[in-house]
Amino acid sequence: MLECIVTKFGGSSLASDEQFRKVRSILELEPTRRYLVPSAPGKRFDGDDKVTDLLYVCYNLASTGKPIAEPFGKIRERYLSIARGLHLKIDIERELDQVEAGIRIGKGRDWCASRGEYLCGLLMADYLGWRFVDAAEGIVFHDDGRLSDSKTQEKLSRLLSDGQSAVIPGFYGAKENGEVCTFSRGGSDITGALVSRAVGADVYENWTDVSGFLMADPRIIDGPAEISSITYKELRELSHMGASVLHEDAMFPVHRAGIPTNIRNTNKPYHPGTMISRNAPQEVSVPTITGIAGHKGYTVINIEKNMMNSEVGFGRKVLAVLEEYGISFEHMPTGIDSMCVVVKSDSLIPHQEEVIRRIEELVDGQGSVSVMDQLAIIATVGRGMVHNCGTAARLFSAMSRARINVRMIDQGSSELSIIVGVNESDFEATIHAIYHEFVG
Ligand code: ASP
Repeated sequence: MLECIVTKFGGSSLASDEQFRKVRSILELEPTRRYLVPSAPGKRFDGDDKVTDLLYVCYNLASTGKPIAEPFGKIRERYLSIARGLHLKIDIERELDQVEAGIRIGKGRDWCASRGEYLCGLLMADYLGWRFVDAAEGIVFHDDGRLSDSKTQEKLSRLLSDGQSAVIPGFYGAKENGEVCTFSRGGSDITGALVSRAVGADVYENWTDVSGFLMADPRIIDGPAEISSITYKELRELSHMGASVLHEDAMFPVHRAGIPTNIRNTNKPYHPGTMISRNAPQEVSVPTITGIAGHKGYTVINIEKNMMNSEVGFGRKVLAVLEEYGISFEHMPTGIDSMCVVVKSDSLIPHQEEVIRRIEELVDGQGSVSVMDQLAIIATVGRGMVHNCGTAARLFSAMSRARINVRMIDQGSSELSIIVGVNESDFEATIHAIYHEFVG
């Protein structure tokens, strides 16, 4: 029996009064859904505005002394139409007036952006008859704008300790001096995770407009299979390679606290979605692979040096050069007297000449340095391949049958993923070959 569920609803789930009604019926289906974290209203249709985007527009106009009447009018209308459609009693006009005045008098960028969630939370709390808890009271940021994890846990759990059902707006918190601060875009997911941890939830439900994760990008594979269960570690590997539904930073608080996250679809409330957990549930048969994700736009720096293997500290010196230029490396397969470092091309390009010259100095005429760009990287991820023979053989045979040349191989140290580098022009064909080999 589940005791306590925290729900987070994304912008498209809160875009209109009709969506608010769906949210209420979802809550009524399961009375243990006792906390709700809303985003700001999102798009109702293609080409519509997201309230948060409009708030940034207002801030930018106000900060250059220009009028905000036009974009703020759109924001006002969005909230008024929800309030009217649901026959709410709350004086949302007054709240809107205060937000408009705040933007005009030059309140900070984060304060302005956060009002989308704040106003949405007020409407939702009124609609549900739940307590409204301002996130500025419970989510604490350091002076440099980073989240204070321990203070947040302490304050938020105290604020919510009475066990009363509550609405806590997503996306923002405040520094100890009261100044409002936001997470990066999509950050309401993080608020949901922090609330889940603070109340010790059994499940963190993240309601959006898709029924969870897919095994591959639907723009490449037609109707890919859905992922019903995945571990946090697998998801981290996939989302790093571009599979995104959830904000990356939303995984850590719940992962560490052992709380599963369930991705659900507000428009299909009976679909079980994807369950993300620390250890996948006992399964009758674990699929060999859980998902495939990849990206174009990588460059490999190939370094060869005689006797590299016996030169203590060579790798460190190469990485120190990258560090100096603020370039983070993605993969680093090594041979005996060679190594290659894979980096994102756009982080290397501005410094490429100096970086290569510096590495050549390290090689000191006893080898060579070469650069190959236009590399795509594809990660095939699956807890099912740990201690399982033959997965790599199947993967590479499938690629060879499709006549794809493998330019780099890296097996993640966790044995949870096999990473291949191919020419960008082979990117889609590689995903097809791997997907059809393992999924059919
Ligand atoms: N409203 C914010 C954004 O659009 C935060 C969120 O929706 O999670 O990025």
